[in-house]
Amino acid sequence: MSDNQSSPLNGEWTWDIANRVSVLVCVCRDGVIEFINQAGLQVFGEPPPDNVIGRHFLEFTQNEYREMYAELFKEGMSDPDGLSVPMKLAASDGTMQEMDVAFKPMHQADSSLMLIEAQDISERKHATTVLRRAYKDLEARVAERAQELSQEISERRRAEASLKLTAQVISRLNEGVVSLDTEFHITSVNPAFTRITGYSESDVIDCPPPFFDNMGEDNVLQREMHESLAAGIAWDGEFWDVTKNGTRYAANLSVSPIGTETDELVQYAAVLTDVTKRKEDEERIRYQANFDVVTKLPNRALFFDRLTQAIANTGRANQNLGLLFIDLDGFKLVNDTLGHDAGDDLLHQAGERLQGCVRTGDTVARLGGDEFTVIMPSLMDGRHINIVAQRILNALSSPFEISGKEAIVSASIGITIFPDDGQTPNDLLKNADSAMYAAKENGKANFQFYTPSLNEEIRERLSIKNGLLKAAERGEFDVFYQPKLNLRTGKIDSVEALMRWNSKELGSVSPVRFIPMLEESGMVVEVGEWVLQQACKQHQSWLDAGLPPLRVAVNLSARQLREVSFVGVVQSALSKSGVPAEGLEIEITESMLMSDSARAVVALEELHESGIHIAMDDFGTGYSSLSYLKQFPIDTIKIDRSFVSDIATNADDAEIIRTIISMGRTLNRRVVAEGVETREQLEILESYQCDDIQGYYISRPLPSDEATEFLREHFTETKK
Ligand code: C2E
Ligand code: MG
Ligand code: MG
Repeated sequence: MSDNQSSPLNGEWTWDIANRVSVLVCVCRDGVIEFINQAGLQVFGEPPPDNVIGRHFLEFTQNEYREMYAELFKEGMSDPDGLSVPMKLAASDGTMQEMDVAFKPMHQADSSLMLIEAQDISERKHATTVLRRAYKDLEARVAERAQELSQEISERRRAEASLKLTAQVISRLNEGVVSLDTEFHITSVNPAFTRITGYSESDVIDCPPPFFDNMGEDNVLQREMHESLAAGIAWDGEFWDVTKNGTRYAANLSVSPIGTETDELVQYAAVLTDVTKRKEDEERIRYQANFDVVTKLPNRALFFDRLTQAIANTGRANQNLGLLFIDLDGFKLVNDTLGHDAGDDLLHQAGERLQGCVRTGDTVARLGGDEFTVIMPSLMDGRHINIVAQRILNALSSPFEISGKEAIVSASIGITIFPDDGQTPNDLLKNADSAMYAAKENGKANFQFYTPSLNEEIRERLSIKNGLLKAAERGEFDVFYQPKLNLRTGKIDSVEALMRWNSKELGSVSPVRFIPMLEESGMVVEVGEWVLQQACKQHQSWLDAGLPPLRVAVNLSARQLREVSFVGVVQSALSKSGVPAEGLEIEITESMLMSDSARAVVALEELHESGIHIAMDDFGTGYSSLSYLKQFPIDTIKIDRSFVSDIATNADDAEIIRTIISMGRTLNRRVVAEGVETREQLEILESYQCDDIQGYYISRPLPSDEATEFLREHFTETKK
């Protein structure tokens, strides 16, 4: 302590003590420093004591707060207990120190004296700051943890709740849920599992699932499943299973591996769905898409599938394949006369008969309508196909019994062989179809192998078919008249109306070719009516022209006779033209009567009673059954020209004609011989006492104007 510091306090030792303390101690009078200890000088930057003594304490405080400090200073002076405040004190180099400053008035000696103690609090403050920061950190961490905890708790609660919910959901599911351990033994099942399979939990616990035994043929699905699961991939599949009591049901099974977070496999979850209804629907749909409802045979779609498959296999094996295209002859008649149910019944029976004719491995299919096919894959010997085709013809030729009635059909069969007759299913079928048409044209009830020239014929048939559609409106049809000579009177007293078609594209087409097609399409009803009206009109105009009464014969087709309106159509043609009933003759054939005798007999009786003549055409070519002559109101028998053409050379034919003529006479029927081309034929027929003759010898069929001319010239003359 310096000597020049005069002390207001008594006793040197006080200063000594004051200088030893480590806190700032100073004494001020009215704020001016009179004494400052060593530690105080250090706070102010160790200036010489003279630079401090005599200056106002506040000069050593921070500028910005000096006014505020002055106030505090005053307060400290007036308060007997003093005052303690934090202050920033400035060192001589300008650095600031945070100090805790205590002002204490020293009244005992001098009321203006003040003791100031100041303690450095920057350390403490720093500690406090550190502490506060640490506390804050701690607080934050606690808050964080607390949040974590509450999150954990709510998550756990949620998990627990969802577990509970899951359990509830699982127990209410319609799907069977099965937990399996890693050895595929059941650890739990839900009620739906029991509902679906009939097995209770106690039946199956610790056992492999009962459906494992039925997974596909040879358990192929089970193998697939194990492979997939071994690779860690969930598997699903469908198969037919049986319940505990043996009922079949369709199962959809999906199995997933369940692992821990570290991917350690802990169990499998299997979900089993009863999909019987859907499976059955699918199978029904698949069946309907592939099988014909009427015959239960594969339909067109499945036929093509099988044929494609068979062609592929046959090609690989370097073998042949046979394809039969079968069309029922006379089916339409059964359908039209006995009804569609009867038609369906016949198709069903025909399908069964066809199946009886083939080997296992062959496919019988129904293409539609009355068309069937047989695929014969791996044909070792081509001759086998003839045997099968003949077997089919035989099988279909015996009568069908349909709701107590007999129905007769036959079959026309076309045959193609792969690879010779076509490489693709379409070509093979198309060519088999052509061959079938050839069989039909060949008189039906036979089979034909495909030859490339057949397609030419088919093309022609097609152009005829198409041409016929336009023929009527284009006015391409005409009616010619062929005179008939009455051998007894030597007069021309009747003609036959014969249809002609002069096609723009095809030229003159024979009725033998186009009439069957008009019949097939049904157009023959309309066109036949036109012929009838045409013939009646022509007849009336001949009568109007003063020609003597004639009889005009009109040919009829089976379809016309089956029309309910047929009798009315004939009567109206007569009444519209004015021709008397006796002036008309209707030519029918035996086959027409065979197909629908009941209705035919009623219609013919009615027409016959009105005076119209009925003639049996082409006699001798069909059954030539005498019973028809008795059963139906037949006035005239027309001997087919095939007998007449050989009458002079063939004794048998001559004998047949003689018999028919004498039989006709006995039964009181007129007999007409067709196709008389020579005088010799005419004379023989005359010697047999045939009534009328028709043929080129008398005249070819003539267009109406020429026929008019002919009649005018010849109706009174004889050609003898
Ligand atoms: P169809 O009723 O037996 O008629 C006789 C056929 O023999 C006619 O053939 C006629 O031209 C032919 N003919 C007549 N005399 C001779 C002869 O001396 N020698 C030869 N070789 N033939 C002779 P077309 O006109 O070709 O008619 C063929 C068949 O077409 C007819 O046979 C008949 O079944 C049918 N047809 C003709 N017109 C009609 C029609 O308007 N309606 C129906 N449904 N069928 C008809
Ligand atoms: Mg005729
Ligand atoms: Mg004839």
